[in-house]
Amino acid sequence: MHNLEFPACQPEEQLRSIIDRKRGNTKIALDEALTRVLQRYDLLQEHFDNQTLTTLGAEAWEDEHTAALLHCYAVEVDALSELKRLIRGNQPLPLRKICPYCGIGSPGQFDHYLPKARFPEFSVHAYNLVPCCGQCNAIKGETWLVNGARAFINFYADALPTSAIVCPEVDWLDVAGTAVPNMTFSLVCPDDFDAHRFALIEQHFDRLNLLERYREEAPSEFYDLRISARARKATTTYDLRVFLQGWIDQHTEGRGPVNWKLALYQELVNQDRFLHDCLT
Ligand SMILES: [Zn+2]
Repeated sequence: MHNLEFPACQPEEQLRSIIDRKRGNTKIALDEALTRVLQRYDLLQEHFDNQTLTTLGAEAWEDEHTAALLHCYAVEVDALSELKRLIRGNQPLPLRKICPYCGIGSPGQFDHYLPKARFPEFSVHAYNLVPCCGQCNAIKGETWLVNGARAFINFYADALPTSAIVCPEVDWLDVAGTAVPNMTFSLVCPDDFDAHRFALIEQHFDRLNLLERYREEAPSEFYDLRISARARKATTTYDLRVFLQGWIDQHTEGRGPVNWKLALYQELVNQDRFLHDCLT
């Protein structure tokens, strides 16, 4: 899980480029709606700047305008493809293949953070398009506010903690004479992070079932790390720990401190049981 860089583009210009490619009644409806849409773009920018997204209300659109605005995203033209490339291409290289919502999947889709059914005017607004994996996109769906509070982190706008929030626990089970790790996860609010803001993170984790998804993914991460550790051919746990810690530190620079895999690796590297198992 990581923050996203705002794409280096002007949302208004992107919208105009997409509208220019439309024809017939769709083009007519979009030209009619353009002034109001741009007013809504300004309002969205204000809410991003003031961190007041929760209070952004929906606009009442006529049916033909709603259909035309949704058409902008549903029927992809070159300008929309270019916008998607800009959004993906502006993310730091170590993060481009990681879904920000979960930190597990590959971000092959785009989520409309403000659901396009309620906010059709933002269907192709760059700040409303979040690259994410299909599983997260399907779970989030049209969910926006729940009891007046946002249900998911906005990775463009919401600052994340600057230290780890996923706490792995590793117990070793004896399975037919072989020690097998049982890895579970909990969520921990850092001391320097506001508890009220952390409630949104808890809500996000809960709705996406992230701790359980991490538990399911953990065994393959364990085996990958063990293969890398054994390939080092270290003969002491000290040498192996120094090597692995350096590897984790370098990846933390690129992926940030909230990454759940790095938290798991760190927990394993702290365990002598794991290090002994990796010695040659
Ligand atoms: Zn995901």
